[in-house]
Amino acid sequence: MLPYGRQTIDDADIAAVVEVLRSPLLTCGPLVARFEQALAAKLGAKHASVCSSGTAALHLVYAALDLGAGDEIITTPVTFSATAAAAYYVGAKVRFADVDPSSGNIDPASVASLIGPKTKAIVAVHLGGMPVDLEALHDLADRHGIPLVEDACHALGATYHGTPIGGGRSIATVFSFHPVKHITTGEGGAIVTPSATLKRRIDRLRQHGVERDPSHMQQPPAGSWAYEVQELGWNYRLSDLSCALGLAQLAKLDPFVARRRELAALYRTALAGFTGVTAPAESNDRESAYHLFAVAIDFAHFNTTRARVTEQLAASGIGTQVHYIPLYEHPLHKQRCGDVGPHPGADHYYARTLSLPLFPAMTDADVGEVVAQLHRVLGDSK
Ligand SMILES: *Cc1c(COP(=O)(O)O)cnc(C)c1O
Repeated sequence: MLPYGRQTIDDADIAAVVEVLRSPLLTCGPLVARFEQALAAKLGAKHASVCSSGTAALHLVYAALDLGAGDEIITTPVTFSATAAAAYYVGAKVRFADVDPSSGNIDPASVASLIGPKTKAIVAVHLGGMPVDLEALHDLADRHGIPLVEDACHALGATYHGTPIGGGRSIATVFSFHPVKHITTGEGGAIVTPSATLKRRIDRLRQHGVERDPSHMQQPPAGSWAYEVQELGWNYRLSDLSCALGLAQLAKLDPFVARRRELAALYRTALAGFTGVTAPAESNDRESAYHLFAVAIDFAHFNTTRARVTEQLAASGIGTQVHYIPLYEHPLHKQRCGDVGPHPGADHYYARTLSLPLFPAMTDADVGEVVAQLHRVLGDSK
């Protein structure tokens, strides 16, 4: 079975983890700061904090921005549940903007229409690895004095106007190291930020709200053992085992992304002239990191349904996924957000999207096979 995504692990990754297993510190050791520094350097970011998942990273950012009851974030409904659910963790509400019907990325004009006195953050998701219109969103955020957060869980290695995603001026950019993402630590996540203050707060919240630096304590320390629990935090640490894997994987980010882009170009060529199947658009001012290769299929044109197509592809060994069921369709988000009004862009995008297999270890022949099977499945059902 060709899955829609899969990690690539080599001997160097395995050796790096084994080395930590033989060392005295499995967690809270030297590799945490090393991975953070390497990640920040790679992205051209000032600071990085790693944590236990992309979801934890979102939660830490929302908490560190002091979001709470009575506050709202504006985000896209075409995302993984965690982008919104992490706002519920801190008691905040979510408003869903609409998206561009062809890219599925958040529509700045729709964001503008939702901004109000309760808006405390705009959270953009680079869907499938294609950067959103950051310039328009920064303009909006600046005009209203609202922080812009990037959920870049799909976009490690993407660029916007030549700058790596994460290396720009957004207050925080969040990544995930789940095995299906660009690089993996098993489970893991990270936040990069230009703000030393935000980094400090995030690091404290990641570790139970504990402060160990005497210059930041409220009481003079009674001895070298002293620390203060200054606020309610969590255990969202990432272990040295995970950081060792992360460092070894980060060294291969460029070839991983290059291979994803190469495979995407092969798909694009193979799909050219296939009426009713549209490859994701490219843009000359930004480069997708191709976490996904999501095509838009006019299922009605082929007189079939997505359910039948995914079933027939699976029967011939090809795994697909749908990214995403709009969040306002889920019971949790319905219950939290109530009637959210129409989202024609998101509905249109969702009706047609299908993510085809894409991961660095795929062969050129795999791409040909996927497209051949897609032709067969869509042609047969006419
Ligand atoms: C993967 C992902 C997350 C959550 O990351 P985890 O590491 O799985 O917790 C959040 N947002 C988006 C868009 C994602 O793809």
